Amino acid sequence: MTADSNDSRDDPWLLTPGPLTTARETREAMLRDRGSRDEAFLDINARVCERLVDLAVGSDGADSDGNNYVCVPVQGSGTFAVEAALGTLIPAKGKALILVNGAYGARMVEICTRLGRDVEILENAEHEPTDVAALTARLDADSTITHVAAVHCETTSGILNPIEDIAQAVAKAGRRLLVDAMSSFAALPLNVKTLPCEALMASSNKCLEGVPGLGFVIVEKKALAKAAGNAPSLCLDLEDQWRAMAENGQWRFTPPVHVIAALDSAIASHAAEGGVAGRGARYAENHRIMVEGMRGLGFETLLPDALQAPIIVTFHSPADANFQFGDFYDRLRNHGYVIYPGKLTEADSFRIGCIGQVGSEQMHGLITAVEASCKEMGVTHCGP
Ligand SMILES: *Cc1c(COP(=O)(O)O)cnc(C)c1O
Repeated sequence: MTADSNDSRDDPWLLTPGPLTTARETREAMLRDRGSRDEAFLDINARVCERLVDLAVGSDGADSDGNNYVCVPVQGSGTFAVEAALGTLIPAKGKALILVNGAYGARMVEICTRLGRDVEILENAEHEPTDVAALTARLDADSTITHVAAVHCETTSGILNPIEDIAQAVAKAGRRLLVDAMSSFAALPLNVKTLPCEALMASSNKCLEGVPGLGFVIVEKKALAKAAGNAPSLCLDLEDQWRAMAENGQWRFTPPVHVIAALDSAIASHAAEGGVAGRGARYAENHRIMVEGMRGLGFETLLPDALQAPIIVTFHSPADANFQFGDFYDRLRNHGYVIYPGKLTEADSFRIGCIGQVGSEQMHGLITAVEASCKEMGVTHCGP
């Protein structure tokens, strides 16, 4: 299914980091009331977890070899899954080194700090990828670091961190890696077994194109089994959630049944599109059309192409005094496109996403709308 088969709609296209535009079939999967203990729901839940493991071990459902890894779902947004993973997998006596080059790395620092976990930070600027040589040096210098937490695609800027090199450095130093793959999972290839990492955190509403309300952690079974009693939270105790679900297939507390039904449908659409490769190709094409179009109008990207993930792009705000982001946002919204403010601490910027149930038609439409909006605002120079 492609974006072009989407229904004609009054809702704007969501070119944001999420929640995103979803397929009609995905939304329609929610038009049922399913009991949380009902077998029909439990089957859906088990299938969703199994397929998420398949995606994380790179088999795209072809041969289910998730033996060493399990999927533990958590009610809530993606951050709930990140907090559950950090709180459960890093023991009270552990120490985390967090790789920070944007808001999501910084959020993991805040989570660990609030959880009372010992935390170290390796920081790079928002427009720079993680420095892997510096990571190796930090691990060599401090043998008390037990875990490293990294962000795959830092959605703050849209930068792609060198996750394979990071993983090799962490494995070589004999430490465990936790990856926030929230904005890349299901669109960019990532294999938890060969990477390797102890856990990967993602959510229903980004590249899987489900609706928001579910976070999940793909985690090494052995690590989880050792983590009993670590979590300072009941709701966000991943080990407890897993053990209870493994016993009878049921959630401990009310599951987001509609969200899970929608995700089941969204995962089937993902497979029909050609899995990670197919989805990644559509997003790469969305990204190409959008960046070429914006550059054609004079806008400049924050990042050079080599560092940019085809997920979300940060543009410098035009220096033209007639450009006001709030005004620009409202005009684009009236044309049917929702974009996102910048999240950089250093530069005045805004972001446009390439993900969700959108395709080339929407990306070309966006460029036309940006050109019209700039004209309406009297912005003649779109460069910074
Ligand atoms: C979206 C996102 C999250 C989670 O954000 P929520 O608002 O809690 O869903 C975490 N990390 C990254 C890199 C993200 O893009």
